[in-house]
Amino acid sequence: MSKPDTPYRKRALGNRPLSPETLAMSYGYDAKLSEGSIKPPIFQTSTFVFSSAEEGASFFRVMGGRAEEGDPATPGLMYSRFNNPNVEVIEDRLTVFEDADEACVFSSGMGAISTVLMAFANAGDVILQSTPLYGGTETLIRNVLPNYGVKSHDFVAGAPEAEIRQSLENAMKDGTVKAIYTETPTNPTNEVVDLELMKTLADELGERQGYRPPVIVDNTVLGPIGQKPLSCGADIIVYSLTKYVGGHSDLIAGAALGSSEYMKPVRKLRSAIGTNLDANTCWMLARSLETVTLRMKAAFENARKVAEFLNDHPKVERVRYLGFLEEGSRDHKVHTRQAGDYHGSTFSFDVAGGQKGAFAMLNALQVVKLAVSLGGTETLICHPGSTTHAGVDPELRKRLGFTEGMVRVSIGIEDPEDLIADFDQALSKI
Ligand SMILES: *Cc1c(COP(=O)(O)O)cnc(C)c1O
Repeated sequence: MSKPDTPYRKRALGNRPLSPETLAMSYGYDAKLSEGSIKPPIFQTSTFVFSSAEEGASFFRVMGGRAEEGDPATPGLMYSRFNNPNVEVIEDRLTVFEDADEACVFSSGMGAISTVLMAFANAGDVILQSTPLYGGTETLIRNVLPNYGVKSHDFVAGAPEAEIRQSLENAMKDGTVKAIYTETPTNPTNEVVDLELMKTLADELGERQGYRPPVIVDNTVLGPIGQKPLSCGADIIVYSLTKYVGGHSDLIAGAALGSSEYMKPVRKLRSAIGTNLDANTCWMLARSLETVTLRMKAAFENARKVAEFLNDHPKVERVRYLGFLEEGSRDHKVHTRQAGDYHGSTFSFDVAGGQKGAFAMLNALQVVKLAVSLGGTETLICHPGSTTHAGVDPELRKRLGFTEGMVRVSIGIEDPEDLIADFDQALSKI
């Protein structure tokens, strides 16, 4: 939706552009419309009253793409599957963090990912994906979308350019490539996908097949503080807001962001299939967004300390932390270009003694919680091989560098010395 330049959508103080951290407190919300309430109330309503029959008709014309002369630029509030004030506030604020034209929020990260892919790829089309992706996304692309005639080809995230280009050639033989879908850094192995190369491939596909596919990037693991994919070559960002953005392990939500042109079919499909987000969760997200920078920076700093401790520990074989990428390596160059000095707080490491060693440590931890998910205030740890990635083909797991003793940790904002003490005592139980 185009944004009229209303006072509550002002993004600058005179010539000074305001930071996302400042705008997170107020952007997109007009207190005067809600009795002066400093915070947006929760608009717990399914539908909205029209002021006249004509107004209702005009809103439906605008939303349906049949606007007539004199109709408003954007549809007013109609029905909460289509729009709602809490949805609009959080969508506006997310755009500020990613410098995107528009955002659409969804009932989950998977709701966002499936809606975006379905908006661009139809029966007979091909998705070119990097691998590994989040387990649910792998299942969606490899096992669900084929039931609807959508095909896919993959390349390993850290593969050399020639190998990626070979996958692209194979993909083109199978149909029109309608989307390039990636996730960087990869979860849980922290490999890096070069977004500039993805953009180049999309441009070349545009020339060769007459359709330029969008480059779609799952930015859940480093964003929105550590990495801004739209400035690195991506066209669309998808998120599990359940993770760092929600940040307190108490909600499930997702988002897609990009240009208005790209968000138009996504928003339309969301309204049609009902992958929208409820007002209460939007309100919680707006609250979370006020502290997302503080939380993520604190977690990143804690993660560095814990990673350094683990790296020196005799019972730990390999720590796949982004801060340990070899200087001068391809991954280091790409990672620095895309994320600067931000190394995130989710990484995996290999425990000595394989799965038996890993389980012994996991069962002994007392502060660190044994659970899937990531990006919460509390530190979570899991064994991907038997949980989040148990459904991934064992051959593929091997190709991706999974080991029996690999565990994934998401460092939170506790006192890092307590976390280190907990790992120290748990590792001594192996
Ligand atoms: C959790 C996660 C998802 C899925 O999000 P949900 O909110 O659980 O649906 C997608 N991508 C990544 C990288 C994730 O970590």
